[in-house]
Amino acid sequence: MSLPLTFTAPRRGKPPRHLADLSPEEAAEAVAALGEPAFRARQLGTHYFRHLEADPATMTDLPASSRDRMAEALLPPLLSPVRALTADQGATVKTLWRLHDGVKVESVLMRYPDRATLCVSSQAGCGMACPFCATGQQGLTRNLSAGEIVEQVRQAARALDRGEVAGGPGRLTNLVFMGMGEPLANYKAVLAAVRRFVQPPPDGFGVSARNVTVSTVGLVPAIDKLAGEGLPVTLALSLHAPDDDLRGELVPINTRWSVDEALDAARRYFETTKRRVSIEYALIRDMNDHAWRADLLARKLNDRGRGWVHVNPIPLNPTPGSIWTASDPAVEAEFVARLRMAGIPTTIRDTRGSDIDGACGQLAAEEAS
Ligand code: SAH
Repeated sequence: MSLPLTFTAPRRGKPPRHLADLSPEEAAEAVAALGEPAFRARQLGTHYFRHLEADPATMTDLPASSRDRMAEALLPPLLSPVRALTADQGATVKTLWRLHDGVKVESVLMRYPDRATLCVSSQAGCGMACPFCATGQQGLTRNLSAGEIVEQVRQAARALDRGEVAGGPGRLTNLVFMGMGEPLANYKAVLAAVRRFVQPPPDGFGVSARNVTVSTVGLVPAIDKLAGEGLPVTLALSLHAPDDDLRGELVPINTRWSVDEALDAARRYFETTKRRVSIEYALIRDMNDHAWRADLLARKLNDRGRGWVHVNPIPLNPTPGSIWTASDPAVEAEFVARLRMAGIPTTIRDTRGSDIDGACGQLAAEEAS
């Protein structure tokens, strides 16, 4: 007897169109195409971006038939929560989301006394294959749409606004593209999402572009393109080694764009945007944490000018099965001291949420449940 073939893998495909995928002009056109007056696009945008609402039942200023039609066409549910884990007395929340095709991604909300930062995913999986990063081990499943990125933001902003996060009602102030994926490999959707984040309601959430950080392995043409967008977002370059031999191993795309080429692009980014660039450096014991590498890094940065860059070392978060571990604290201190002695502003990045696998490089959604 043959088994019926009832099992089919989830279809990995394009998510439905969403208001958050659209520019204000496109949103007006989409609403008009539904037979609604164009001004309804602004009403819908006010609900979504200002009130953080996607439930048509709450949109009582709209005629019932219009709001159902518009919500069905422009506010399809894109993310459903699978699980939320908290750490740091509730100040860190990691959410695992299921997308329309069953693919899973994560985002992490980190609340501090003076700000609340959301770390978003820009892709399901990642194609960059950095060996120390959990997402890098999965390979790329697919790009997220702008709507799927923006929905991570709206849901976090809503939870904060409604007082659902420890510490009472608050606002989402910062956005970092440091979740799953390489944001500059999904350029169009990431840029559209950033525009929705920064434009004021009803076209976006109205958060300062200065509070957005795009982190990249160093896709040089995309860095140059980003510099020309007229958006003063912060660029973070995942360097992790100042020499091509080692960086080629840690960040494989280095064989395409070398350390010097990536640093030159970072410097150009600063010149165009006047935004100080961050250099990310995961400190891996006996791998990249040598004093001479701190000195070489400082030299390469200083060769390109002063005051344009700062370094964010982060102790490696060991991923399951990894042979690597974080640097010894004394070695880390020496590495930082050498950079500072050379005049490079350097701050160790904190590792919020490491106990819920919510810290950098640990975002690896489990197999389909
Ligand atoms: N693709 C982007 C975003 C990745 S996540 C990029 O590479 O920049 C953001 C940062 O976390 C990157 O600097 C990445 O190299 C770093 N990271 C990844 N895995 C890590 C780990 N296990 N420990 C510490 N940092 C890690």
